[in-house]
Amino acid sequence: MSQPHILLLGPPGAGKGTQSKRIADRFDVEHVTTGDALRANKDMDISDLDLEHDTPREYMEAGELVPDAVVNEIVKTALENADGYVLDGYPRNLDQAEYLDSITELDVVASLDVSTEELVDRLTGRRVCDDCGANYHVEFAPPEADGVCDDCGGELVQREDDTEETVRERLRVFEENTQPVIDFYEGEEAFVTIDGEQTPDEVWADLEAAIEKRV
Ligand code: ADP
Ligand code: AMP
Repeated sequence: MSQPHILLLGPPGAGKGTQSKRIADRFDVEHVTTGDALRANKDMDISDLDLEHDTPREYMEAGELVPDAVVNEIVKTALENADGYVLDGYPRNLDQAEYLDSITELDVVASLDVSTEELVDRLTGRRVCDDCGANYHVEFAPPEADGVCDDCGGELVQREDDTEETVRERLRVFEENTQPVIDFYEGEEAFVTIDGEQTPDEVWADLEAAIEKRV
């Protein structure tokens, strides 16, 4: 059998990045994340698409969705080049979900469920390594030395969109645009909800078991 196709859904801060790394290692699949891809290409010129802004940066800094034409293309190219994947951060609206449906088939759709106030605490306390992208939290997953990455010694920084004001806007955008995506997959055989408010190890135990059952 070819490598599994796994979709990880959930609001910003639900732990998708944290758990995707474990999925990628355990099931030997590619981690495809639109957030990281866009952050690496924030100043890409998209003026030819004749949209409201000429680069992804303006959308991202405001906590808004980057237009579908840009993200769909990123995902199409990434999935074409992956033999098995865990997809994180996409689809974020129903049009993206329909596009995804037209280009691939999913074996597992796992949705991480976490309450809003917990999400605000997780996102405002998140720190990421500027060099290798490793993920920390000032309280829930602190590094050994303040501000320094355990893995590579790089500097830990706060994402520009992890301020409380932008976090609240991202959560509003999630409720409006992405919650319907979860409803879209609910009821499918591949779909499973995981309690994302447990410790990372507990979430992983449930997630690994749910994936093993379906692939
Ligand atoms: P997402 O990719 O869904 O936005 P992340 O994986 O980046 O979420 O996690 C957001 C923040 O919450 C990070 O700082 C991470 O260290 C922390 N975190 C992740 N999973 C948990 C958990 N189960 N309990 C507490 N904190 C967590
Ligand atoms: P994330 O790293 O998943 O929290 O995404 C950070 C930001 O990137 C989001 O707030 C959006 O501005 C943008 N982004 C990421 N994925 C998508 C997507 N699938 N569709 C639209 N915008 C996205």
